[in-house]
Amino acid sequence: MSEPFYSEGLRFECTRCHACCRLEPGYVFLSERDIERLMTATRLSRTDFLARYCREVPVGEGLMISLKEKPNYDCIFWDGGCTVYPHRPLQCQSYPFWDPNLTSRQAWSTLKGRCPGVGQGKLHSLEEIESWLAARSEDPPVVLKRKREPA
Ligand code: SF4
Ligand code: SF4
Repeated sequence: MSEPFYSEGLRFECTRCHACCRLEPGYVFLSERDIERLMTATRLSRTDFLARYCREVPVGEGLMISLKEKPNYDCIFWDGGCTVYPHRPLQCQSYPFWDPNLTSRQAWSTLKGRCPGVGQGKLHSLEEIESWLAARSEDPPVVLKRKREPA
């Protein structure tokens, strides 16, 4: 198999522009471990945490759990900064080293238009990038079964 285009590593350093937490609609899908960490951070039961901070998003045959957004599309946990930063979801921690961004050099370059940190600053090694990919596949987003609509 040929080496990935990022075999020599990729540069990324967050400029803290906060574009990925605010002002645009999107999804932050939660894994089981994310939910447990955020329940601890918010000191809520699972039921209360899901009701207060999460929404169910139909994806394919199932339902995924995403954080809610405020009316202006800020993340529900945004308040001048991420209020759950040490407990933030794996999707946020692992950005921008997500599968779809690493499919090709072009996919990575395209991301520069949305994230000024891509291609700048710290060099992240192949091992580090692969460890983020592995972390996501070991702790995937929750997919719930959709309840059948009554006939
Ligand atoms: S868009 Fe990129 S540079 Fe801006 S806050 Fe998000 S990760 Fe950091
Ligand atoms: S949980 Fe925190 S880091 Fe993740 S999108 Fe929300 S505010 Fe940003």
